[in-house]
Formats: sequence, C-alpha cells, structure tokens
Amino acid sequence: MAIRLTDTPFLDSPDVGEPECVCSRCGGVIQDMAIRAWSAHGDGEMEYRYHPACLGVSVAMVEAEGDDGPVEEL
Ligand SMILES: [Zn+2]
Repeated sequence: MAIRLTDTPFLDSPDVGEPECVCSRCGGVIQDMAIRAWSAHGDGEMEYRYHPACLGVSVAMVEAEGDDGPVEEL
C-alpha cells in the first residue's frame, strides 16, 4: 500500500462507523474496517485511513492476518 499525494490526511481519529470516519482516498464513510496509516514525515500526527478496497486489499486477508492469536513460546 502507498499513500498518494491526493489522499486527504486527518488530524482526528474517529472510530469506524462514525460519520467523521471518512476515507482519505474516496471521501466515503468507513463503516466496517479502516486501514490506518500515519505519516512518517513530520510529527506523525496526520492520520490517513482507507477502506480496505481503496487500498486494494481484501478484508478477508486483513482479518486473517489479525487472527494469528498469541505467539507460542517455545
Ligand atoms: Zn475509500
């Protein structure tokens, strides 16, 4: 994934489903899952957030990544 110059950064970080939680790319409200990213430049206070589809990732894939559970200790 890559942040584009045309994407809108936000100073706030509303929860998914709030009317303020809009996509940096398409401007639509994010209802289900937001992919959040923070700028590596400056102070990192600018949040970018996206619909998974707007970044070209599938929700199923994202959920699978978060489903690994606790790391087993050997
Ligand atoms: Zn979007």
